[in-house]
Amino acid sequence: MRSPPNTFAAPELTSRPWSKDVQIALKSTFRMSGFRQNQLEAISAILDGKDAFVLMPTGGGKSLCYQLPAVINTGKTHGVTIVVCPLLSLMQDQVDHLRALNIRADAFNSEMSTVSRNHILGFFEKPHPEQFIQLLYVTPEMVNKSETFRNGLSALFERGKLARIIIDEAHCVSQWGHDFRPDYKMLGEVRRQYPNVPIMALTATATPNVIVDIKHNLSIDACRVFSQSFNRPNLYYEVRQKEKGVVNSIGDLINSRYDGQTGIVYTLSRKSAEEIAQKLREQFGILAHHYHALMESVDKARVQRNWQQGILKVVVATIAFGMGIDKADVRFVIHYYLPKSLEGYYQETGRAGRDGQQSDCYLYFSYGDIKSLRNLIAEGDGSEEQKGRQRGMLNRVVHFCENKRDCRRVEILQYFGERFDKIDCQRTCDNCKAGGRFVLRDYTKFAVAALQLIKANRRMTMAQCAGVLLGKKPSNNRLVRQHYGVAKELKPTEVHMMIYKLLAEDALDEDNRINRVGIAIQYFTVGREAKDFVLGKRKLQLVSSAGGETVKVPSAMHSANRKRNNEASLPGQSDEGNNAESLVSNNFAILSGGSGGSDGF
Ligand code: ADP
Ligand code: MG
Ligand code: ZN
Repeated sequence: MRSPPNTFAAPELTSRPWSKDVQIALKSTFRMSGFRQNQLEAISAILDGKDAFVLMPTGGGKSLCYQLPAVINTGKTHGVTIVVCPLLSLMQDQVDHLRALNIRADAFNSEMSTVSRNHILGFFEKPHPEQFIQLLYVTPEMVNKSETFRNGLSALFERGKLARIIIDEAHCVSQWGHDFRPDYKMLGEVRRQYPNVPIMALTATATPNVIVDIKHNLSIDACRVFSQSFNRPNLYYEVRQKEKGVVNSIGDLINSRYDGQTGIVYTLSRKSAEEIAQKLREQFGILAHHYHALMESVDKARVQRNWQQGILKVVVATIAFGMGIDKADVRFVIHYYLPKSLEGYYQETGRAGRDGQQSDCYLYFSYGDIKSLRNLIAEGDGSEEQKGRQRGMLNRVVHFCENKRDCRRVEILQYFGERFDKIDCQRTCDNCKAGGRFVLRDYTKFAVAALQLIKANRRMTMAQCAGVLLGKKPSNNRLVRQHYGVAKELKPTEVHMMIYKLLAEDALDEDNRINRVGIAIQYFTVGREAKDFVLGKRKLQLVSSAGGETVKVPSAMHSANRKRNNEASLPGQSDEGNNAESLVSNNFAILSGGSGGSDGF
C-alpha cells in the first residue's frame, strides 16, 4: 500500500549543497512556484547519485523530476542527462518546451540527418559538453542499436560527463506492462556498461508486479521508489453493454453530451478505427479522424497536431495513439473495444481530464469481444507462459466489466496495489451511482480452503491455487490433497474473483518475485486478516458469477432498504444471511458469525 502524501519537505531535502540552486532553477528557469508531491524527493535522490523510480499519474509532473536536475551543477554529477523516450513526437514536444525555457536540449533519433546527429555527437567530445547540451532525448533503438551513439556515450562516460540516464515511460521495459518494447528491455545493459551512473525510471502505470519486473530488468533493485495515489478523482468510470448499433450510440453520446469537445475512441483494429471515424464524420457530423500504427508518419503527426490544436475533436484510434499525448482538455475516452488489461485501461482512460476538470470514461463490453481477444491471444506468438499471463490480464478486465456491484475505483486501484475506500468515490463511477443491490453467495468455505492451502504451501500463484481448488491439477502432494477439488462446483472465474477479494481484504498479500529465468511472478501469501476468516469470525460473500444469477433489486425497494442494509453489512456486525444467498447492500459483505476451523492461523 502507498504511503500518505508528504506535505512537509524533510530537512535533508532543503539542506543539501545544491538545495538553493534547485529552488532558483524551479522559479527562474522553469517558472514554477513550488514542487508537487514527490518532485523534490525524487530530484534530491537523483542529485545524491541514487537510482530512483517515480510513479506519478499522467499529468502529475514527472518530467520536472529529471529536467530540473539536468540544469544543476553539483560538481560530481555535472554533465549530460540522457533521456530514453519511446516516441519521436513526444521527444520533439519536450525539446521545444525546454528550449523555450533556454535549456540546452536536443533529440537524437533515426529520423534526423547524419549531419545533425554528428553535430550532437561532436558536443560529447567537448571538455564541458553540458555547456552545449544538458538534456539529450533518444529512442531506445538508438541506445541499443546505433554503434556510433554508443561509442559517443562511452566516451562521455569515461570522461565522467554522463550525468544520469532517464528511462521515461518505463512500463515499456516490462513484458508484463501493457506496452512492452523489446528495445526497452535491452536497456538493462546500460547499468552494466555505465556502472555508477544513476538511473531514474518514470511511469504513470505499473502494478506491483510490473514494478518488480522493471527494477529487475534495469538492475535498479535498490532504487528509491516515489509513488503516490493512482486515483484520478475527476474521472467518471462507466461500463456499458455493447449492443448492435453501438457506433450510433457513441455518435449520439458524443453529440448530446460532448458537442464540440475533445475526446478519444479506442478500438482494436486499424479497420474498425477507420470505419468508426468515417461513420462519426459522415453520419453525425463529428470532426473525427482515425489513427493507427500503419499510417504514414506524416499522417499520424498531422492527425495528432490537428487534434492537439482543436481542429479535430475526436480521434478514433488503436492503442498506438496516446503515449505521451499532452492535451489537457480531453473530456471523454470511450473504449469501443475491451482493453487487454486493466493497466492498459487505466493508462488509456488516464488521458482524459489532465486539466483536473470532470471527464468521463465509457467502456463498451460484450462477450463476443472477449472471445475474439481470447482467440487473438491463442493465435498470437509468444510463449505459453506469456499467453497464460495475457489470458489472466484479460480475465481481470472481464471481472471488472461483469462487476455491477463494486466501486470501479476500488477495483482499478487495487490492481495497482492501492487501497481505496469506496465512500471517497462520491458516486463517480456507475456502480456507486446506481447503488444497486444484488443476490450474494457465500464463499467462505472456499475462501477458507484457499487460505489454508496457500498457508500450507507458503506461497502460490493464482493458477496453482485455483488449479488445486478446482481439482484440475492432480497431485499426491500432502500439502495439496486436503483441498483438492473442494471448489469443483465453482467456475474458474468465481475462484479468481474470490482470491482477488481476499487480496482486497488483506486476507491475502501479493508477493512478487523474480523467478529462475528472471521473470517477475505474482504469488499470493496469507495476510494479516486471514485468521479471522479461518476462525469463522468473518465471511466472504460475492455476487454470484456471470450467468444471470445477479439480480438487481428494483430501485424503490432499494432506496427504502438502503439505510438498514448499509448498516447491516458493515464489517463486524451480524446479519441474517448466514450461509445461503442473502440480500445485502452494495458493500463488501463481510459478516460476523458462522463457524470454521482455526488450522493454526
Ligand atoms: P507527466 O509526465 O507526469 O504526465 P508532465 O511532466 O508532462 O506530466 O507535467 C504535466 C504538466 O504539469 C506540465 O504542463 C508541467 O509544466 C506541469 N507541472 C509539473 N510540475 C509542476 C509544478 N511543480 N508546478 C506547476 N506546474 C507543474
Ligand atoms: Mg511524461
Ligand atoms: Zn465508485
